[in-house]
This record gives sequence, structure tokens and C-alpha cells, in this order.
Amino acid sequence: MIKMIYLGVLFALTAIVLVLASLIRTKKDLVSRSIAVLFLTIVFAVVANTLFVIADNETLAVIFHSAFLASIDWMLLLMLRYVVYYTENQHGIGRLMYVGYGIAAAESVCMILNPLFHHVFVLQAAHRNGYGLYFYPTGYSLYFYIHLAYSYVIVFLIFLALIKKMRHTARLYRHKYGAVALVFLLVIIFDAIGLIWNPPIDISLLFYCGGCIVLCFVSVFYVPKAMTDKILSNALLISEMGVGCIDINGRCIYVNNRGRKMLHNFRGIDIDEDLGAAEQYFAGWRKRHWSDEAGEQTYLQNFSAEGRNYNYEFTIQRMEDEDNAFLGFFITCRDRTEDVERYEEEHFRVTHDALTGIYNEQTFEEKVAELLERYPNEPYVMVTSDIKDFKLVNDLFGSERGDEILKMQAKQLRDHAIEGDLYARTGEDHFSFCMPKCRYQEAPFAQAMQAIMDVFSNEAFRVQVNMGVYEIIDRKEPVYMMIDKCNLALATVRDDYTKHIAYFNESLLEVELEKNRIINEFEGALSDGQIQIYLQPQTTSDGLMVGAEALARWIHPTRGLIPPNDFIPVLEQVSLVHRLDAHVWNLAAAQLAKWKAIGREDISISVNISPQDQYHLDVYDVFTKLVERYDINPHLLKLEITETIFARDTKRHIDLIDRLRAYGFEVEIDDFGSGYSSLNILKDVKVDVIKIDMGFLEETENEERSRSILSSLINLIHGLHMDVITEGVETEAQVHVLSEMGCHHFQGYYFSRPIPVVEFEDRYGVD
Ligand code: C2E
Ligand code: CA
Ligand code: CA
Repeated sequence: MIKMIYLGVLFALTAIVLVLASLIRTKKDLVSRSIAVLFLTIVFAVVANTLFVIADNETLAVIFHSAFLASIDWMLLLMLRYVVYYTENQHGIGRLMYVGYGIAAAESVCMILNPLFHHVFVLQAAHRNGYGLYFYPTGYSLYFYIHLAYSYVIVFLIFLALIKKMRHTARLYRHKYGAVALVFLLVIIFDAIGLIWNPPIDISLLFYCGGCIVLCFVSVFYVPKAMTDKILSNALLISEMGVGCIDINGRCIYVNNRGRKMLHNFRGIDIDEDLGAAEQYFAGWRKRHWSDEAGEQTYLQNFSAEGRNYNYEFTIQRMEDEDNAFLGFFITCRDRTEDVERYEEEHFRVTHDALTGIYNEQTFEEKVAELLERYPNEPYVMVTSDIKDFKLVNDLFGSERGDEILKMQAKQLRDHAIEGDLYARTGEDHFSFCMPKCRYQEAPFAQAMQAIMDVFSNEAFRVQVNMGVYEIIDRKEPVYMMIDKCNLALATVRDDYTKHIAYFNESLLEVELEKNRIINEFEGALSDGQIQIYLQPQTTSDGLMVGAEALARWIHPTRGLIPPNDFIPVLEQVSLVHRLDAHVWNLAAAQLAKWKAIGREDISISVNISPQDQYHLDVYDVFTKLVERYDINPHLLKLEITETIFARDTKRHIDLIDRLRAYGFEVEIDDFGSGYSSLNILKDVKVDVIKIDMGFLEETENEERSRSILSSLINLIHGLHMDVITEGVETEAQVHVLSEMGCHHFQGYYFSRPIPVVEFEDRYGVD
């Protein structure tokens, strides 16, 4: 009967163990897992012990008791393992675990062999009323005492780990470890009582079982409420967030330290001295803003205190219990000042120009579009400004000085603007200003520009600021196009030193469109053969043709013949003229090759080299390759270089001319007399022919004087062993006069206009 009671209690405890095991099964932390393993050994021990208790055969009883003792070893060891994890002592006692496993394994073997050799204990059978038959171990050997000593060492280590942890942990946590230590202590004490009492059944397993259940509960499920309360209230106290609670009567029942400081900053209320003021403030706020349906309200409050701007974010929550009964308000307050400042800084950074602090291009465009939409009936003007050769300004004065100009311009705009005007830096040295037309006046802008020019110019360099104005007509067009229109106007005065302000009109747009057409169609025209050469003969005074100048013509499929003056300046602007020149040179060389094939090696062709070519092509290389490719005499390909080319990089050009002449090309100076240092050129540059334009004569008022100059010039040129050719000759009289002066070669309408190659060949019998 008593056996049954013992087994019943044991199984009840085992059932609890199994329930707990299933509850912690899903937990993956080391403590829960160590408890699960511990539970497994307990179940094994219970089974072994049960079988031992009910065994009526001595052999079986020995086997089961041996198994039971072995399982006690493992159980203690696994308890230690649990404590190691629980106290996070893996690196201290935890390191001894492997020794423990070794000893437990050896002991288990020793126990398993006991039924054979009886070297640990023997059983004695006895019979007692109420117990029935039972076996009790006796004849303990040294092995048994080793087992006992091992058990006590483990118990000692368990206490050691717990005490160590308790000493080094916050007071709050000592309960947690103290509870576990207490459980162990109770198990040991009950065990000792059991030993002294010495009942027929070893009841220590009951204590182990019960102890482990309590351990599991304490370490996995039970968290002391006092502890969480304490932690929570400490967390609130030190929180970066202000926290407060108001009860149902509007009494302030809690405010943490941060909350006190924030309230003081925000409303100047000192809670310790004037709690009522805080409560009053909240009651007022609640009346004005709170709506019960919301349950929670968040708002950002901006205020200044001690000369600084603050942004506090308040969250007010309605607290309810589980039956939805109102409990009060929970208020939190976060200081968002830095976030707001950071946001504002970031916003400023992306919408403003870093150097001048005024709007950048993108923001300006957005704001102007908004403005025009907001005031649909108000006429507006757009004004842009540009500093001429700003790169050069930076190079000459240094970029800091350049920055100063920009800053001064920005300041002028700021000073000039009134509410509703918009202005921005819309490019490196570009500013834009949008204002109502009724307020626009040229004078203040002109003065502002003049001020800049005066401040920054010096004897060596004149800073020039230009302005383009566009009265906004199409209000729906993108703002950048309005700015473009101003810039178009501006471009018309860029090279004008007397005018600085220009107004947009539609014809400028037409010019711009034309320019774009040329640029867009040019490459296609080259490859389609639309760009051809016309030849203008060069003759002696009696009309004998000795050569021709090749002049580019664009034979456009729809627009007909486009003269070079219509497209070459555009190509120069976009640095494409070298593509045209290389094409024309090639056509000219091919023509010479054709003539050579029919035995006409007496006609030369002159081609034009523009100043830009040297920066895009290896001119020497291109010409020599052409000569080689077409197998022509370089002497027949004459190269016209305009005088203006020598204004920059003189040495480089002279060097090129020398090399070309050394190869056998004839070099001509074109438009001689059009530049200002023509005589210097005669001094420094050695060429074969000087080409004088008749314009040289026409433009002078005093004909007598210029004739005399021309005559001396021709003499001078001959004196320098160079030839002269006059172009633009239109009348017989001109030919006559020039001939008398000693000029023997002519090019001009008097003899022929530039004509298509076929016509040229026809007219001069080149076939
Ligand atoms: P340019 O090199 O000075 O060429 C002479 C220009 O004067 C030609 O104009 C020619 O038609 C014109 N002309 C000839 N005789 C007379 C005359 O008696 N009276 C007047 N008023 N004009 C005369 P075009 O063909 O329209 O060429 C204009 C300019 O275009 C050329 O001036 C040259 O600078 C440039 N050009 C033409 N073809 C090319 C080329 O293939 N490459 C380069 N870079 N420039 C070229
Ligand atoms: Ca020419
Ligand atoms: Ca010329």
C-alpha cells in the first residue's frame, strides 16, 4: 500500500515533469534545453526506480537499482549543466563539464557491471508489514563512496556557481538566483532527512523530481513582478522620453525625470512646486484638442525657450482596463528638435544653392510654375544674367574672387526682391529673377550690373555682366524654356561692350531653331554628300585661269543651296567646323586627282583652314595623308589660313606652316589686312602668297590714301618674296589699278562667281 502511495506521488510528479517538458519543448534557449534534457534523465530514473521498487526478484532489483544510481549521477551532472547556463558560467565551471561527463560515463559502466560483479553494493531482501517485500542496498564498496563523493562535488559546484552569480549581479536579480539556490538547498536538506529517517524506500527521487519542477518554473516561467515593475520604472525614469500619467480625476500621478525637465522647458512649470499648474494646462489642452474617439493623439509642438527653437512631439493615449473602463491618460513626449533641424537643413540643402544660399535651379522652376498658376491674370517677366567669360574671370582673379562676384549678385537679387518675387542661381554664373511685369524696370538691374562690373574690373580685365529679359507669354511652357529665351536674348549682347540688356523676341527663337536644324542635320548632310564644293577661279588680269578656291556649299534636299555664311558660324559655335573642312579638303584632293588623271596638272585648288581645326585635327597629318592617298602634287593644294589665326598660339601656327611648306604645300594668308597686326604677320610668318580682300580698299574713306597703302603693301610683299592675289575684284577698273600696282592674280565676281565643279570644267575646258 505504502509502495503504491510512493509510486503514485512519483508518477504524479513525473506527469507534471512531462507537462512542463512539452511546454518548454518549443523554447530554444540554452536554459530551457538543459532543463528538457534534465527531465529526460528524471523520467529514466523514475522508470528505473519504479521497477526496482516493484521488483520481487533480487537479480532484477540489482539491475534496476544500478541503473537508478547511474541515472542519479547523470541527473546531478545535468543539474550542474543547467546551473552553468542559468548563471551564464560557461567559461568558468562550464569548462569542467567534460571532466564530469567522463566520470559519469565511467561510473555508469561501473554500475552496469554491478549486477555481474556486485562490486558496488549488494541487495538484501527484507519484509515489513505495510511495505511487503523490499530490497535494500548494503555492503557498499569504495566504488559507491566514489559515487557519493562525485555527487557532493557536483552539488558543491552548483552552489558555487549560484553564489558567485549572486555576488556579482544587481540586487534586483539576486532573487532570481537565490530562488534556485534555495530549491537546491531544500532538496539537499530533505535528502539528508530521508537518509537519517531511512525508510524502506529511498524517497530522494521525490525531492529531485519536485526540485526540478520548481527549478523549471522559476527559471523559465516565473518572472518576479516586483522585478519587472522595478525595471520598468527605472527604464521610465532614465528614458530619453518624457513620460507622465494623469488619472481619471485629472490628477497628475506620475512624471519621470525627463518629463519634468521637458515640462519646465516647454511651459516653465516646475512640477515639484506647482503640480496644479501642470494639471491645469493638461485640462485646458484636453478641452480644446482631445477627442475621445481617437484614443490616441500625436502632435508636434514648436516653441522657443532661452533663445532656442524646440520641437516636442507629444503622444497622449487613453488608458483602459480589460473591461474598457477609463483609467486615465498616458502622455509621452519626445524631443524632436534635432530631427526637425536635420530635416530642415537637408531640405534647405536640396532646395538651395550651397554658395549663395538662394534657391537652386530646380526649386526655382517649381516655384515659378506654382506662382504663375496661382496668379493667372498677373503678367510676369523673367530676367536672367550671365557673367561673360566667367571661366576666364576665375582663371585671372582666382576662384575665390569669382565666388565673391556670385555672392554679390545673389545679395543684389535678395535686396532687390520683394515678397512674391522669385530668384535663384540657375547655373554656374547664371541667375534668374521672376517678377510681376508691372514692377519691372530696367534701371535698377542696369545699376546692379554696373556695380558688379565696377567693383570687380581692373585695368587688365573688364568683368562684364549681361542680362536677358523675357516677358512670359506662354505660361504653361516649362520654366527652363523661359530661362532659355532670356538666354537667347542675352547671347545677342554677349560680344557687345556697349549694351548689357537685351529683350527676347520671336525672331531670336527662329534663329535658334535654325541653328538647331543645322546642328542636327549636319552629320547626315556630310554622309549623304549634300556638302559639296563650288570652285571660284583665280586668274591673271586677262582672265587666264590658273587655279580655283574651293568653297563649301550645302545643297539641301528641301531648302536648296545654303551658303557657307549661313552654317559655318553655327558649326564654329559648336566646334564642328573641322568636320566640314576635312570633308572639303578631301573633295578638293579628289578633284586634283581627277584632273591629274586627264593630264591637267596645271590647275591648283585653294582650301580654307579655320582657326579651330588645329585643336581638333592633326592638320599636318591629314594633308600629307591626302596627298599620299590621291597621289597628287602637294604644290597644287594651296592652304588658306586666315590672318586672325595668329592672335593666339602664334608659335604653334608658325610651326605648322613651316612643316607644311617643307612638305611642299603652298600656304596663303587669307583676308590679309582684316586683323590689327597684319604687318607683324609679314614680319614673323613665312608663307607663299598673301591674299588681300578688296574690302580692305572699300572700307576706307580716303581712297587716295588707301590706294597708296595698297600699292606700298604690294611692293612690300614682293620685296619679301611672296606672291599677292586680290580677291573680291568686281570691276574692270579695279583689275586695271591693281595690275598697275603689280598684282597679277585675281579672284572675284568680275571674272566669275563660285560655280559647281562641272560648270567650272565646262567653262575652262578642263576635260
Ligand atoms: P573667303 O574664304 O574669304 O571666301 C571668299 C568669299 O568671297 C566667298 O564667299 C566668295 O563667294 C566671296 N566672293 C568672291 N568674289 C567676290 C566678289 O567679287 N564680291 C564679293 N562680295 N564676294 C566675293 P562664300 O563662298 O560665301 O564664302 C564665305 C566664307 O565662308 C569664306 O570666305 C570662308 O571664310 C568661308 N568658307 C567657305 N567655304 C569654306 C570651307 O570649306 N571651310 C572653311 N573653314 N570656311 C569656308
Ligand atoms: Ca578663303
Ligand atoms: Ca578671303
